[in-house]
Amino acid sequence: MRIVLLGPPGAGKGTQARRLAESTGMTHLSTGDMLRSEVASGTELGLLAKGFMDSGDLVPDSSIIAMIQQHIADPSGVLLDGFPRTLIQAEALNEALDQIGLPVDQIVYMAVNIDELIRRLSSRVVCKECQTPYNLEVDRPIKSGICDHCAGEVIVRDDDRPAAVKNRMKVYEELTAPVLDYYQSRMNVVEVIATGTPDAVFTKLNEAIGSDAPFN
Ligand SMILES: [Zn+2]
Repeated sequence: MRIVLLGPPGAGKGTQARRLAESTGMTHLSTGDMLRSEVASGTELGLLAKGFMDSGDLVPDSSIIAMIQQHIADPSGVLLDGFPRTLIQAEALNEALDQIGLPVDQIVYMAVNIDELIRRLSSRVVCKECQTPYNLEVDRPIKSGICDHCAGEVIVRDDDRPAAVKNRMKVYEELTAPVLDYYQSRMNVVEVIATGTPDAVFTKLNEAIGSDAPFN
């Protein structure tokens, strides 16, 4: 089973994909997390990616596609979060799946209006060690600045700073919004209104996925 989670920055794709992966046993493929781990290990890809990410720009398609191709055939099934982010990536994903004879089973679009997105991104912080996301308005760590799970330091990511957030929204409109059109013209895209608490959104997502493809 391969599920693609689409949606603008701040829609909660990462949080929800993590929970879905836990509840279904599927592998969560987050290009953002993968890239941040490359940056942290100081790999060649990490060094290349860091400059793009810090300013809110997209890392080049070829690097992202190569990274995803290594994991796409995972027999546990994959939840794609943050990929495909451009039309070129969407086409590359189709090609890669065609080659191994596996389809995209479901596309879920997480819809949130722009004011809400900007508010969310501006209050978002993340654990530097284990990447657990928090929100200073609705989902703070129990001890200020310290991760509930691993006691790591909780920080504002460079790409969540105001100038980068503004640029990410612009990049999303130009490059990623067309990916939604691309899929809508080819297959059924399930839309989930991703507002409300993370629990409420998780319930809606499970209903949406369950209504379109059998899970259990
Ligand atoms: Zn942590």
